[in-house]
Amino acid sequence: MIVILLGAPGAGKGTQSKMLAAKYGFKHLATGDIFRGEIAAKTPLGQKAQEYVKSGKLVPDNLVTEMVAGKLEFNGTQYLLDGFPRTLDQAQSLDKFLAPQKATINVVIYLNLPHAEAISRLSSRRVCSKCGEVYNITTRPPAAEGKCDACGGDVVQREDDSEATAKKRIMVFEDLTHPLVAYYKAEQVFHEVNAAQSPEKVSADLFAVIDQITAAR
Ligand code: AMP
Repeated sequence: MIVILLGAPGAGKGTQSKMLAAKYGFKHLATGDIFRGEIAAKTPLGQKAQEYVKSGKLVPDNLVTEMVAGKLEFNGTQYLLDGFPRTLDQAQSLDKFLAPQKATINVVIYLNLPHAEAISRLSSRRVCSKCGEVYNITTRPPAAEGKCDACGGDVVQREDDSEATAKKRIMVFEDLTHPLVAYYKAEQVFHEVNAAQSPEKVSADLFAVIDQITAAR
């Protein structure tokens, strides 16, 4: 089973992916997290991706597609793709890569969030630099300022969550990623969830979609 979560930066893909992975046992593949890990470890891929990630641009398609292809295994693993594909080129490459394996995308869920809300969420988002726990300085601050509730690590703002870079990322989403909505609608695997609801309600809606797909298989 392959599930794709599509949505603007700030729509809650990461948070919801963790809930879905815990409930259904999906292997969560988050390309943004992978790039941040490669950058921190100063690997050759990290060095190539660094400037794009920092400035809110997309990493070139060939680098992303190659990296994802290297991580997918066709041994019954159920994948949840978070942040990939992000362009039509990536979506077509994924289709080409899956076809010979007789693997298909079972469902694409679009977390739909108004852009103004996405920008506001991104600029108030903070993350633990140690364990990756996500906070929001307005709606969910850590109990002790700047310290992670879960592990005590430093809670910081991602460089690409500054207001200017967040706005740029939303524009990039609209230009390059939003066309995937029409692409996957045509492939009849598309579902949409209102991401402006509470995280609990968004999870409930996502679970309902996955349950429906699982029951129909
Ligand atoms: P995210 O954590 O999903 O918001 O991703 C952070 C950054 O990683 C993005 O702004 C891009 O620079 C890069 N990135 C993640 N996934 C992709 C992708 N599928 N294609 C291109 N760049 C990506």
